[in-house]
Amino acid sequence: MKRLWFKGAGDVELQEVPIPEIDENGILVKIAYAGICGSDVHGYTKGGMFGGIYPEPNTFGHEFAGVVVETGAAVVDFKVGDRVWVDPLGCVRDPRLTCTAGGFGEYIAVIKPVKDVTVFILPDELSFKNASLIEPFGVGVHTKNRAKPTVDDKVLLFGAGPIGLMAWSALKHQGIENLIVAERMPSRIELARSLGAHVVDNTDIDAYEYAAEQFGTATVNAYERPDVTVVVDCVGIGALMGEYLEKGRCNSRFTTLGLDQTPLTIKPGEFMSKQFSVFGARGYEPVDIKEVIEVLVNGEVDITRIITGVYALEDYEAAFAAACDRNSGMKVVFEIDGTL
Ligand SMILES: [Zn+2]
Repeated sequence: MKRLWFKGAGDVELQEVPIPEIDENGILVKIAYAGICGSDVHGYTKGGMFGGIYPEPNTFGHEFAGVVVETGAAVVDFKVGDRVWVDPLGCVRDPRLTCTAGGFGEYIAVIKPVKDVTVFILPDELSFKNASLIEPFGVGVHTKNRAKPTVDDKVLLFGAGPIGLMAWSALKHQGIENLIVAERMPSRIELARSLGAHVVDNTDIDAYEYAAEQFGTATVNAYERPDVTVVVDCVGIGALMGEYLEKGRCNSRFTTLGLDQTPLTIKPGEFMSKQFSVFGARGYEPVDIKEVIEVLVNGEVDITRIITGVYALEDYEAAFAAACDRNSGMKVVFEIDGTL
């Protein structure tokens, strides 16, 4: 079978290797589509350490969907022909190695297939191409779910990249109407607006001031602040958390998927007085994946328009070039077997 082999920054090889073997508890999946993640881009541009594709050289690709083509003797929950999305955690022995799962290849062995936990059977109406979004979509949905938003919340979401727009579409599907997206990149603003998002370009405009114009202000414990009850950070720079601590309203929640290591200054007395809740969001849980599938199938927004490039595995150089171009590429996916 064909697979991509990550050797280091800017160095990927298309290889011909044997189809992986499964044991009695495993299943073998033929991959239809696989998406290039931001972490793959980090690895491709800076080296495996920066994208979790480590130790290098290694297999990579962790956003994929396909068909079960073989099951181990002890497997009862899956059968040949099942259309599935697989959590890359189910394909690795060490949870720190999910980015090395091996989705950029024709077949993948799932070591621990657990129904509705690591492997979900896809509804017929969900295409494999769109199902390749489930993994990153899970991250976006998990990020917003950490703050437990409800229809009464007034939400300010930072970032209209793939994950931000996925979080946005899930918030829309929840029926949250007071929802502003702050983004600076023109191409992302344009796409978000074309999907129907209320976007503020916060290059020159302060997103919190803009939110105050839209939602009004609230005065609690003598602090007058923009009436934003939930802030969702899908950008991930530490400065956004710092800005929240200064401009956030009392009794609000902030949730972030950021990896930024920059230290922040916190005034504990003010934090106490404003009764802030700050949540970190890492990965996703099965409940998030259920919601993702529901939004992909029944959401009124065609979020799959974020797929801006589809490439054959052989065209990996062009695919990575497109994925690395943040000004034009949103989500780039490999069509590994379009006949499935
Ligand atoms: Zn990913």
